This record gives sequence, C-alpha cells and structure tokens, in this order.
Amino acid sequence: MTDFKLLIGGKLVAGDQTMDVINPATEEVLAKCPRASKAQLDQAVAAAKAAFPAWSATPIAERKKALNAIADIIEKNAGELARLLTQEQGKPIGDATGEVYGTAAFFRYFTALDLPVKVLDDSEGRRVEAHRKPLGVIGAIVPWNFPLILMAFKVPPALLAGNTIVIKPAPTTPLTTLKLGELIRDVVPAGVVNVITDANDLGAALTAHPDVRKISFTGSTATGAKVMAGAAAMLKRITLELGGNDAGIVLDDVNPKEAAPKLFQSAFQNNGQVCIAMKRLYVHESIYDEMCAELAKIADAAIVGDGLKQGTQLGPLQNKMQFEKVKELIDEARKDGKVIAGGTLPEQSGYFIRPTIVRDITDGARLVDEEQFGPVLPVIKYSDPEDAVARANASPYGLGGSIWSSNPDRAYALADKMESGTVWVNKHAELAPNIPFGGAKQSGLGTELGEEGLAEFTQLKIINMAR
Ligand code: NAD
Repeated sequence: MTDFKLLIGGKLVAGDQTMDVINPATEEVLAKCPRASKAQLDQAVAAAKAAFPAWSATPIAERKKALNAIADIIEKNAGELARLLTQEQGKPIGDATGEVYGTAAFFRYFTALDLPVKVLDDSEGRRVEAHRKPLGVIGAIVPWNFPLILMAFKVPPALLAGNTIVIKPAPTTPLTTLKLGELIRDVVPAGVVNVITDANDLGAALTAHPDVRKISFTGSTATGAKVMAGAAAMLKRITLELGGNDAGIVLDDVNPKEAAPKLFQSAFQNNGQVCIAMKRLYVHESIYDEMCAELAKIADAAIVGDGLKQGTQLGPLQNKMQFEKVKELIDEARKDGKVIAGGTLPEQSGYFIRPTIVRDITDGARLVDEEQFGPVLPVIKYSDPEDAVARANASPYGLGGSIWSSNPDRAYALADKMESGTVWVNKHAELAPNIPFGGAKQSGLGTELGEEGLAEFTQLKIINMAR
C-alpha cells in the first residue's frame, strides 16, 4: 500500500507517530498510516490561520475555480479512491464509486452559490446592508461511515465562503482523505486545506484550539455533546450532525411486495451504518406478517462479502467496536423478539453480519430504542397510525423519518406530525447537496448543505449607514 502523508501548510509530511489501518473484510493491516501529534495539529492550525487573509481576499470566482478543480481531480482518480474507500471502509465497490462521484458533485454544487450583499433598507434615513463574512479557520471532524461525502458537506462551503480548513477524518478510515489531500495539494494555496489524522485523541484539542473559529462535526451524539462543551469557553461556532433513530411508518394501504425492497434498502444501505438509515420500522397489523416475510426473503438472498468482490451487496461492518456492539444488540433482541432472517455469522475473518430482521419486538427493547448503526432492523406492529407517530416521536433523536402510503394526503398529514429534521414520503435517506440537512432534538444543531449550510460558514455582518 502506498505511503500516506499528512497535509500541513501545503507540504506532505510524515506523522510524528504511525498507526495501523485495518481492512474490515480481512482484519489484516491495510496500511501504516501517519498519526499526527498535538504539535502537528498546532502546525496545521497555524498554516490555516496564515493562509486565511489571502484566501478570504481571493475573489469568489477564483475560489469556485478551485472547487471545480478539486472535483475534476476526484473524478480523474475515482477508480483509485473508490478502491481505497472499499478497502478501508468495507462498502461494496459500486457504493464506494458512487460516494466518490457524489463527493465531486457536492464540490461542484457549491460553485453555483454566491454570497451577495443584501440591501435590507435603502430609505431616506438609512441604508442597511447584510454581508456574509468568512469566519477564519474551520475544524472539520468526520466519522467512518462515509469518509469522503461527509467531508464534502463541509469543505466546499467552507472554502467557497473564504475560510481555511483543517480536516480530521476518523481514525479507522483516514486513507481516502489523506489520498485526497495529496492529490489536491497544488490546487489551493498552501495552508488553505490541511489534513491531519489521530487515534481519537486530537478531536478535543482541535475543538478547543484558540485559533479555530468553528467546528463542523459529524459523529455520535455523545461526542457531539463533548464538542459543544469544548467549544463553549470561546463561544466557538459549531454545527453538529449527530446520531439518529429514524422510524419508518408503513400504513395499511401499502403493498408489502412492492414496498419491501425499498424499505430494505432504506435500512441496510451501507450495512445500516448511515445516520439517516431507517432504524425502526412500524408496520400496520393488517400487513405485518406479509411485510415481515417479504423483508426476511430479501435479507436471506443478500450477498454479503468482501466489497471488492463483484456481486457483493453488503460488506463487513467498518470496525471491531461497531461489530461487537451490533452482535450484542442482536443477542439481546433474541430475548425481546424473534429473529426471522440473519442473526448468524458466517465462519470467516472480517466483521461480517448477515442482514438481520427481528419481528415481534416493540418499544422499550434496546434494539428499538437505541441507534444500532448496523445491519439489523426491528419490525414493530401497530394498529393506530397516530399512535405510531407518537412512538416514533418518543425518542431523544430527531434526524429523519418516513411515511409509506399509497395515499399522498394521508402520508402528508402524518409527515407533518413527525418531529425530525427531514421526513420522506415513500422513500427514506435521500440527500442532495441543494437540500438543507439537519437534525431535530439530540440529532444535531444547525444545518449543512444548501444555502443554509453555506451560511453557517459565515458571520452575518450588518452595515447600517445614516443618510
Ligand atoms: P464518533 O462520535 O465516535 O466519532 C466521530 C469523529 O469525532 C471521529 O473523527 C472521532 O475521532 C472524533 N472524536 C472523537 N472524540 C472526540 C472529541 N472528544 N472531540 C471531538 N472529536 C472527537 O462517531 P463515529 O462512531 O465515528 O460515527 C458514527 C456516529 O455518527 C453515529 O452515531 C451516526 O449516526 C453519526 N453520524 C451522523 C451523521 C449526520 O449527518 N447526522 C452522519 C454520519 C454519522
């Protein structure tokens, strides 16, 4: 495996230490990876701070050119990046390729946006303008489920607005981000983009760093709370995209055979390791048995294996900790419900779990109440749709949710009552760069993507002139 380097101040540098990155499909060491020290984190922040005055003064058209050039480079190297992503993350190569091209598309999307001065009042007595100014150095902290695309929620809007950035990928999936840093190092001036890695030990220091003006964080709710606490002393800007326990509610007018493949995909995409995966499924009692049977059939037929093998639909879980957590939840679910598909582990190395469907389980069971973040779906029976919505809402999370019905009016009325940042109808987990995305309740704070997401990388500044 090629040599990986940190990107600090436009230079590719070795880490002060190294760490192993494991291929989750084989449990073998995939690469020795640099691990930054606290001193290297400080160097990266200092480089970003030094690059800020010139970058923020660069015309926005030039900054857009840089974003397009990054997108070009990602597309040109898509094959290599996708293969690396599969090897470190586990996802099938087709999904990895989709993530790579999606990343390029997210960079391009932001080049269509602008930050014009808005005139709020232009009357006899005064002229008032609203400006959007860059913040300074941004810290971008990314999890291991979608290392590239979640990074692309942050980097393009941050750079477009005139900020500079220090990116910190998750310790178990640093390689594609390091590779990207290497590929784009000459596209932006030195220090505008920096990539450092850690062993889960630099996130707090990046958050608390006095020269970092904002943290854009994606990860678990527990860590998000630490970021919020760490940022409080300086009243640092934060955007938090956190965990979820999305409910799907299927009404009695749905055809189980037709809906089951879509529901399965909503829950098991990326092996369920998606913040907005459907994590609990409420099905009306009149179609419950049939829906459970359909879902079990699809789960039984799924091809689980190394993501590099042609035909694989679901790869391994990304890391050992998550693998152990999901196994424990499945074991516990055997007491709380009935496992009708999956549940067993093929005898091989790699963090593999077959897609698992659990029926006759209900609220109060850990698998229903907690975020499993893995390939296991509890299917819960209900009789009253209003009650199903109330149960969906009775969660500290509020990231996404979905209503499934052949009657759009019925679905819309219930969607309106769901307490989440996004509600889908007859689909789940669809994201696009132009659609703002954020969580309600403990699923997050603030918004990413779209114009609202761009605005979060700016300081609103009013100029109010007397006449
Ligand atoms: P995590 O919170 O353990 O780690 C996320 C990142 O935070 C990693 O880069 C990690 O190194 C870093 N980190 C660890 N300790 C830190 C600290 N004290 N301060 C700052 N950063 C620190 O999350 P994970 O296990 O990598 O990811 C899975 C979680 O992320 C799930 O809960 C999932 O729902 C959530 N997620 C949310 C979204 C969203 O957009 N809402 C998207 C993807 C994943």
